[in-house]
This record gives sequence, C-alpha cells and structure tokens, in this order.
Amino acid sequence: MTLIALNVTHDPKATSWLGSANGSDFPIQNLAYGRCRPQHAETLRCGVAIGDKVLDVAQLASQTEWLKAPGVDTALATLAAQAAAEDLRKLMRMGAPAWHALRVALFLALHRDASVKVQQELELALHALSDVELATAVQVGEYTDFYTSFYHARNVGIAVGRGGDVSPNFFWMPIAYHGRASSLGLNSSFRRPMGQAIPPGQSEPVFGECQRLDYELEMAIYVGQDNAWGQPVSMAQSESHIFGMGLLNDWSARDIQFWEMTPLGPFQGKNFATSLSPWIVTMEALAPFRLPFAREATYPQPLAYLDGEALRDHGGIDVNLSVSLQTAQMRSRGLQAQQISQTNFKHQHWCVSQMLVQHTIGGCNLHAGDVLGTGTISGPTPEEAGAIIELAHAGQKPISLATGEKRAFLSDGDVVVLRGTCEREGAVRIGFGECRGEVLPSIGA
Ligand code: MN
Repeated sequence: MTLIALNVTHDPKATSWLGSANGSDFPIQNLAYGRCRPQHAETLRCGVAIGDKVLDVAQLASQTEWLKAPGVDTALATLAAQAAAEDLRKLMRMGAPAWHALRVALFLALHRDASVKVQQELELALHALSDVELATAVQVGEYTDFYTSFYHARNVGIAVGRGGDVSPNFFWMPIAYHGRASSLGLNSSFRRPMGQAIPPGQSEPVFGECQRLDYELEMAIYVGQDNAWGQPVSMAQSESHIFGMGLLNDWSARDIQFWEMTPLGPFQGKNFATSLSPWIVTMEALAPFRLPFAREATYPQPLAYLDGEALRDHGGIDVNLSVSLQTAQMRSRGLQAQQISQTNFKHQHWCVSQMLVQHTIGGCNLHAGDVLGTGTISGPTPEEAGAIIELAHAGQKPISLATGEKRAFLSDGDVVVLRGTCEREGAVRIGFGECRGEVLPSIGA
C-alpha cells in the first residue's frame, strides 16, 4: 500500500472557473465519480461532481480539446475517459495510472487557467445537479459489511445488557458478514420491514412490523481491481485495489436482527435496504487526509499479514462524519434536519487496507465494483455514536429533538442524512455529499 503522492491535483491554491465548485463539497481537488441520467438521456452515464453541477463524462469522452493541456497524458487520459463513459468498472480495471491520468485532465480542464476553448467544451457537458436523476456510481457486484469500530461494539453490548466486553476475535482481525448487493442502492426511501421478533418480556416470537428500526453510519469502500480466485491481496498491494470511498447507511431492524442472528449472523435484520451516497471520492482525492495507524500497546498488535510500514505511516483517513435526523413534523414546519451525532473515521480499530486484505486472505476473489462496508463508525464519547441503539441506550433513554419529539428508534417519515467531509490545514476541504433515506410505512401497513 503505497501512499498516492500529493501532486498538482491537490494544489490548495487551485480554484475553478466554475464558481460553485470553490468552497463546496466538490471542488476541483475532489472530482468524485457518480452516475446520472440527464433529462434528455435514456440511459445512466458516468458523471463527475463539480460544485452544484455534474460533468457528463460520456459526453466529454467524444471531445478532444480538454485532453490536450500540458501535463496531461493525453493517450492514457483519452482511454480512461472512454472507459469511464462506458462503465466506471472499466476505468477501475485500468488501474491507478489511468485513474491518475483522467484526474489530471479533469482537474486542468476545470482549473481557472483553462483556455476559453476548453471551458466552452466543458460547459456543454455540465448539467445542474437539480436536473439529473442520480444512481449508484457503479452497479455494485457484491457487498460485505465489516465490524471495525471498538466503540460501537462496546456501546451496543452495554446497551443490550451484555456488558462492555468485545469478543476476542475483534482485536485480531477485521470481522464481517457477507451481505447482499440486490437491496443496496441509493434507496432514498424504503418501507419499514416486517419480520419475526420477540417482544420485550415475552418468550415466543410474533410476526409484525419492525419496532426497533435503526440506521448505521458507515463508509463504503469501492474495490477497484479484481484479484484472482486463490490469490490473496497483500498489504503492499492493497491500496492499489481500492478505487475510492463513499457513505453507507446499513439500515438495521434491531428486534428482528437480535432474534435471528444467533448463531449465523445478520439476515432479515439487514437485507431489506442499505443506502449508498451517490458519489465515490477517490483514494487520490483523499491523499492529503491520511493519518498514521497506531495501535495502543494495550491491544494486540496486528499479525504480520495485516501490518506494514506504509500502514503505520498513513493507514488511517481523517473523515469527519455526522448523522442528522429530520422528522415528518420538522418537514411540515419547514425545519432542517437536526444533527444528532458526529464522529470521525479515524477512530476505527481497522483500516481499509486491512479490511481488503482480510477479505482475500483465504483466497476469496473480489471484483471491481464490489462494496465493503466499514461497519458502524462510533467514536470514544457517547455523542459520537453511529447508531440510535447506542445514542438511546437500546430504547431506554430516548433522545430529545428540538421539536420536543423523542426517538428511541426511527419512526415512519423520519429522514436520516449522513454527511462526510475532510479538512486539514494546507489542503482544500472536500466532501462526500449526502447519504439520505426516508423511512416509509411498512409493507404490511
Ligand atoms: Mn453494519
């Protein structure tokens, strides 16, 4: 895992001729990938978020002027744009040099110093975000959800009366369950699931609406390379297999989950809906926000196959994360979503490279376009909890909202919004945008 070197595309002084880009979540230092359907188009196409617009890569791929700037590897950037225009997974499979070549070309074309001719070419390929339909950035192949926050593991154990002990395997390897990609999507609204659960104080299950609906603040890791079946990815190779990251909400039916998950793991409690944010922020865009990975001496140090010099030097990523909740009442009164927690990705016990290595270590093959969820992201203090089961102590201490409403778990009409931003002195702030989803009444209602 070699750190991507800071380069021209991270220049903190660089601004865009497109005014809305500067100071937004999506300045030219970000260049996050997504898919959109412009109003006149029949099919989804690859786009790059820039300010309050999306740059239509499919349209740009047939243009030539923007690929000619000095410093652009024109041949490789041209192939990269054509691949992205067809399917982002094709660009992913071209590997890091192609990702970089296209990034440099896009950066220079959107830079304030770009020629008028280039600006005119790009303006024809810009759509207002408000005018396009967004989709997940790739058709996700497979989905695995990890469990890598010590604080989340501890908090949930305490909340449900199991005590704060975290199972020993947690400290030795990133653990996970295999999820389903079929119900993974933007899922900006979904129906409360029905299922089987044991009501409090009873000994036999009943079938009905989920009574304990929760969200999980997570990040999505987008696999960017295939590894062959039987060929594990090493720590040294791991980051070149990761294309980028987004936000992920692993909606969880806690009552259904806790009844079903012994001894095999989550099933109906998780598979009704998982939401992704529309944009993939690339690892190259995240390069200025890397942090050393340090494991306190009181914890077991990673085994050699999960360790490395590069990991120690820059395995972590500094991403500020928040969860906001907007109830139906807030919406009807014209109130914005209220922030209910905030934390940082740096608190995770395991890094993205270790998750990818652990996934492949027995020979499992991953594919470009697969998604790895990081697991719920909770920080050391109670206010930094990434799920409502932690914030409201498994329903025993409902949280109070500005409207006077209380929430032990989510109600119908609640909208949950996840946000992520990276900030550091000497770098331009970049953001992940939003992962937004609304709880609709149940299928059975
Ligand atoms: Mn999860």
